[in-house]
Amino acid sequence: MLVNTKNILEEAKKGGYAVGAFNLLSHPTVEAILNVAEETNTPVIVQINDWVDPNLAIARRKSQFEADTFMNYLVDRCKASPVPVAINLDHCKTYEGCMRGIKWGCTSVMIDGSELPVEENIKLTKAVVNTAHACGVSVEAEIGHVGGRADDTVKEDVYTTVEEANLFYKKTGVDMLAVSIGTTHGVYLKKPKLNFDRISELNKNISIPLVMHGGSGLTPGDYIECAKRGITKINFATYMFMEGGKYIKETLEKNADKPAEFNTLLKAGIEGQKAIIREHIEYFGTKKYDEIFRQ
Ligand SMILES: [Zn+2]
Repeated sequence: MLVNTKNILEEAKKGGYAVGAFNLLSHPTVEAILNVAEETNTPVIVQINDWVDPNLAIARRKSQFEADTFMNYLVDRCKASPVPVAINLDHCKTYEGCMRGIKWGCTSVMIDGSELPVEENIKLTKAVVNTAHACGVSVEAEIGHVGGRADDTVKEDVYTTVEEANLFYKKTGVDMLAVSIGTTHGVYLKKPKLNFDRISELNKNISIPLVMHGGSGLTPGDYIECAKRGITKINFATYMFMEGGKYIKETLEKNADKPAEFNTLLKAGIEGQKAIIREHIEYFGTKKYDEIFRQ
């Protein structure tokens, strides 16, 4: 069933577990994510991009027609699922893009003004919140700044403080907040320095769910600790895509003497993604949903 992202995360906050938010670009990844959620009876968040944004990386971009027809499929597929599924528009930098996400059927949009001066970030986020709430869609925003792909250094002063998070929440009315707690996007070049105490402090003082970006590549213990201390949404993409590719590569190598068959490789890629999703759902503690909310 397609549900509001906020509902999934409020339950997670109550239940003391996190829910995976997995990015997708194509049908096989949608099936991998939803199949695992359905097999494990757990809620899940699928994440899309503002596909038609000309500033989006070319590998992720879709034409208007491709985007519209893909979103028809995605919304129908999520509605048909027996488990709670939310569709989130990930890292959208513009008001217009968030409106496209709402039109496509997203149940939440993330307005990412984290690179703007804080007053401008508040202004942009507030404008998106006003329209999204009128449409029954929830909003994620980001303060502090989660490092980018080439940025492997996280300095002490980039960790989000309780004061700035509270001020941002009060001024925007946002539904969930991405906080900077020491993770970076992409592949880690050196061990991240996570600030677990800051997560606990933020969780104790802020009523809305907390989101972790750059969730790929942490240790199982890191995920367990983050979920325990109050992170409720963990964004995960890079390692999932790499694991799918790894399974395809292995299948090709194992069958090097035979012709490569499209469906065999596709199936291998889906299996690879499913394996790593299954493993991470376990670390995130999402299975608790089954014990708490499905009696
Ligand atoms: Zn992110």
